[in-house]
Amino acid sequence: MTSASKPQLWFLTGSQALYGEETLEQVAGQSLRIQQLLASAGSLPAEIVGKPVLTEASSIRRVLQEANADAACVGVIAWMHTFSPAKMWITGLDALRKPLLHLHTQLNEALPWSTIDMDFMNLNQAAHGDREFGFIQTRLGVPRKTVAGHVSDPAVVARIDAWARAAIGADHLRNLRLARFGDNMRDVAVTEGDKVEAELRFGVSVNTYGVNELVEQVDAVSDVDSLVRRYAEDYNVVPELAAGGARHESLQYAARIEAGLRKFLTDGGFGAFTTNFEDLGGLRQLPGLAVQRLMADGYGFGGEGDWKTSALLAAVKAMGVGKTLGTSFMEDYTYHFGPGKPKILGAHMLEVCPTIAAAKPSCEIHALGIGGREDPVRLVFDAAPGPGVVLGLVDLGDRFRLVANEIDVVAPDEPLPNLPVARAVWEPAPSLATSAESWITAGGPHHTVLTQAVGTETLRDFANLLGVELLVIDKDTTPHDFADRIRWNQAYHRLAQGF
Ligand code: MN
Repeated sequence: MTSASKPQLWFLTGSQALYGEETLEQVAGQSLRIQQLLASAGSLPAEIVGKPVLTEASSIRRVLQEANADAACVGVIAWMHTFSPAKMWITGLDALRKPLLHLHTQLNEALPWSTIDMDFMNLNQAAHGDREFGFIQTRLGVPRKTVAGHVSDPAVVARIDAWARAAIGADHLRNLRLARFGDNMRDVAVTEGDKVEAELRFGVSVNTYGVNELVEQVDAVSDVDSLVRRYAEDYNVVPELAAGGARHESLQYAARIEAGLRKFLTDGGFGAFTTNFEDLGGLRQLPGLAVQRLMADGYGFGGEGDWKTSALLAAVKAMGVGKTLGTSFMEDYTYHFGPGKPKILGAHMLEVCPTIAAAKPSCEIHALGIGGREDPVRLVFDAAPGPGVVLGLVDLGDRFRLVANEIDVVAPDEPLPNLPVARAVWEPAPSLATSAESWITAGGPHHTVLTQAVGTETLRDFANLLGVELLVIDKDTTPHDFADRIRWNQAYHRLAQGF
């Protein structure tokens, strides 16, 4: 699950030999200063790795090919400190396969009005150097994010941070292996999809395993005592499940599922998985607690064989690295139309990630009609209030589409003493009616990723660098404009695919 090395962002500085040795040394020094300012902001989720100043085509091509080949490099930041004639960049940019951010900045924040001379002008000329670079990127059709401003401005760092997280998520997805235990729930449409196209577009490798291969691992688990003790520390375990309780054996079996599932995923190098309640083989309980705890450790998960949401969850969790707020598998379940502000109550049969919990979860056991097995153990909690996003991925047949909705997670209007599952209550922007109408018009799924750790800007960057459509429903959305956008996007994406 954890990558071997800290992700790196390579920092490339463009110039040209015409300036002479002395100036190029100043360029290198100022580039280092910019890198230090970015690193000292302290928030970026990746290490900034500076490269020597680039002044000609062969070294540009070489460093960009090295970026492609280096597993630790998740993206490239380029800044044309001075004027770097952009024909030198053509073959390098054409070869680049890693995400690109064009940072348009200069070291000097204020103009030295009283002392400025031509030497200053010639050293601080990114204002036109970066325009030359922008032209060639546009001419070549290179996907990138352009960020302009001084790096001492927190808003500039925040925009770079958003992109860096998207690059980390895309890198995680590119290397992701996903295990499906059983197939999709029978007759469900939206959880289907093209696994070949997904591997080409996203990199994720999706394969199915007979659930009894997992059962063999579960049955082979010899000791669950340490896990059961861990549960008692991390959660409020109800007395009937606690040591000495009448149903303690059910908790021990839940721990056995966790240990077996963990071993299966670790041995196979998997970062995501799905289950299906219709295909539980020799499992005595539908996995609940185990799935919840694996999600909390960064694993992607989708219920009912939903591998697309599982892969997406793994990617969004990677993007939220270092954040204290959480991300979970989610399903739009039922509505509160009123009184008060309309709300959505989201949950799943069992599998909601405790990273979004408002307080210490309660570990409980209740009957579950679905699946026809023994009562499953699960964590029960309310989600923490605060802003978030729900994100869904569908396969339209000829391409994928992401749909996002900005939301406010709120406390339930009243306690929910009879609801035996973890849940989130939220108010979708701009309103429940417009949100739901737009989501449904877009064909958005009922399974989603709910995140409080990753914002819309990161999701936009993520969609852009994957070349996937993203429709965002936010405070400015109206149903008519949204329906128009779907129509226009449809034309754009079909043209962009070519023939
Ligand atoms: Mn479901």
